[in-house]
Amino acid sequence: MFFRHGRNCGKLLECLLLINSSEIVRKCIVLNNLELTRNKSNIFNSFFSEYLKVLDQHCLDLPLALSATHLHHLTYSNIRQTSFLPSDIVQEARKDIWKSRKDILSKGCKFTKCSIRLNKRWFKFIETERGNPCFKVTYSPKKTFVLPVKTDKQFQRFQMFLKDGWSFDNISLLMDGRISVVLEKEFAKKTIDQKYVVGVDIGSSTLAAVSVFDIENSKVVKQLYFGRDVAFRQRKYTKRRDYLKSLADKGSDRAKKSLRRLKHKQFNFVKTRSGQIAKEIINLAKSYNAYISVEKLKNLKGRRGQFNKKANKKINIIPYGKFTEFLKSNSEMFQVPVHEVDPYHTSKWCYKCGEINNGHSSVNYVLYKCRKCGQVVNSDRKASLAIAIKSVLERNITHSLTNLSSIQGSKTGAKVNLLFRPDAVGFKIAVQHFESPMESLRF
Ligand SMILES: [Zn+2]
Repeated sequence: MFFRHGRNCGKLLECLLLINSSEIVRKCIVLNNLELTRNKSNIFNSFFSEYLKVLDQHCLDLPLALSATHLHHLTYSNIRQTSFLPSDIVQEARKDIWKSRKDILSKGCKFTKCSIRLNKRWFKFIETERGNPCFKVTYSPKKTFVLPVKTDKQFQRFQMFLKDGWSFDNISLLMDGRISVVLEKEFAKKTIDQKYVVGVDIGSSTLAAVSVFDIENSKVVKQLYFGRDVAFRQRKYTKRRDYLKSLADKGSDRAKKSLRRLKHKQFNFVKTRSGQIAKEIINLAKSYNAYISVEKLKNLKGRRGQFNKKANKKINIIPYGKFTEFLKSNSEMFQVPVHEVDPYHTSKWCYKCGEINNGHSSVNYVLYKCRKCGQVVNSDRKASLAIAIKSVLERNITHSLTNLSSIQGSKTGAKVNLLFRPDAVGFKIAVQHFESPMESLRF
């Protein structure tokens, strides 16, 4: 493989690898309690009523608070003087209030129900002398009570998890006495064994431009366009809708009716075509035993900023959401992994020299022109290749140590550091292609 990384990124890269080579999975299990003695029950109840009181105290100052920290400053010293709760638990109450501040401010507050989160400083999981499991809870500094756990089926499941390597640092007490335990376990991330990646760029003139990228040999093996008809038909729909709308605005009932029918028809058309194209792309990926990389949807909206008004109108009619939704749901069914990449600079990056240019040429919207190396290519195809390359880099970096060995030196590679956000990592890697992956277009 032909990725080069510079001198400075070694350590940073290593850290990232260690962090990302595994992931923590969390599960929640609710344990039943044994009935409490009267004395314990009194303590338990006063613990909850105190927590409710603290919630209410936070609510009173909530309208004045500008931030979570501000709320803390407004309330903390007062609560500390009057409440017996430990500071950590007061903080948890504040977090609860801040999290649901919108509801509280609009609907008003008077809490009658709550649960109390406890971190490991405030509880211990122990066994009594008779061997009964229980939670020893510190409800106030140096004051504790013991909550016995029912050794039922649920508890057996809990024990199975512990045996299986799950652990817990947090529990929540529920008002009815049950205990909700947050179990955690670290899992190694799966290594990547695909040799090809299908990069998909969702665009305005072509629904999906696709590059099949051979990862090992660092070259493009196929480029395709899907759904050119969608944009065309969408434009026709828009025109017709604009016309009908102008009639409807003048009071034509017939136009209103037609407009509704047309909207419905357009919706169905886009839905159907998105599904068909997603399936075609999945079949393509399957035939190469490839994974699919697409842009992360969340950030696509942000991309609009870089286009002019006319282009914005085009982008607004692209069914980004529907299309990716189809891609993802089908990908699970057909077991073709989908990797979402941060779209940062994918449309602007030159795959030949690493330069950042405008995503679309000012002369011709469908073209991408590099001001440094003179490369002129179709902008959607180029973007789909950039997405494929970026996903390879992201996955190499975040998934497994062994893949690092395939990143090695080269003097003429295109720099990829501009494909990543400046704050992401000090990426100084480069990608070199065996041969020109795409034909050059000349004016
Ligand atoms: Zn260039």
